[in-house]
Amino acid sequence: MSDYEILDDRFRKLTIGHAKLERLWTGSRWAEGPVYVPAARHLLWSDIPNDRLLRYDEDDGSVSVFETHCNNQNGHTLDREGRVVACEHGGRCVSRLEHDGRWRRLVGTVGGKRLNSPNDVVVKSDGTIWFTDPVYGIDSNYEGMIAEPEIGGSQVYRFDEATGEVDAVITDLVQPNGLAFSPDENILYLSDTGASHVQGLPRAIKTYDVAENGRSLRSRGTLAECEAGFFDGFRVDRGGNIWASSADAVRVYAPDGTLIGRILVPEIVSNLCFGGPKRNRLYITAQTSLYSIYVNAHPAGVGPVAGHISH
Ligand code: MG
Repeated sequence: MSDYEILDDRFRKLTIGHAKLERLWTGSRWAEGPVYVPAARHLLWSDIPNDRLLRYDEDDGSVSVFETHCNNQNGHTLDREGRVVACEHGGRCVSRLEHDGRWRRLVGTVGGKRLNSPNDVVVKSDGTIWFTDPVYGIDSNYEGMIAEPEIGGSQVYRFDEATGEVDAVITDLVQPNGLAFSPDENILYLSDTGASHVQGLPRAIKTYDVAENGRSLRSRGTLAECEAGFFDGFRVDRGGNIWASSADAVRVYAPDGTLIGRILVPEIVSNLCFGGPKRNRLYITAQTSLYSIYVNAHPAGVGPVAGHISH
């Protein structure tokens, strides 16, 4: 029996018929922020309440603690130089793991006020860092440190390291969360989980046109509304399909917004990313566990890859 639920033929082409969902590890309190590091052949992910980063070694399947006391890191991504970029709830900043092994704080304030608790992050091909800043990490001491917001809103920012500028690019959402660009970077997809704080708000992935200057956004509409729980983190594949977390499954949407399939997962899915030497392995963080399943899809922004390049 397949772990894939095919709702549209387009999804069949993205799956491996007999691939099974594997639970690779369990033992976290809230697993989030998976990032695949190709040069290390490992996956890092967050266990936010336990304030640690975990590491799955693809070669031998072992899991170890990569780092403790990491400021309750949440979402991660890889930049164009292969460095891990992190959202820190506890540090209330976006930071980056440099090649020398040190975390470097990139942005923690806007106009002299501290960020709330950066949640998820993506790096555009021009090197700018786009991140969301809801209040989940300052709401309680569970996933960060309880504090009053200094900025009167939960916004989406674009950070340009070259100039040091931090611009609020979306300011009218309640709790912006996961985000990703379309393969051509003309569209930004954004999840708003504001219904966690204001009842009745839509649980949707919204779409924004990226202006030609690459700096600003124009609201375009809604890609999809979530049938179960929330869309938290999500990723876009090379064909422009959106692989999104939800309460009981990874839900996959075609670029036109059609729900084309699901991968049922027995825990609440928080986030996912593509990994493996060929980037055709979907890693899924879900509540207490890390899962994976092989797919016939590859992440946007990554060209053809092979496991080994000979010299
Ligand atoms: Mg999130």
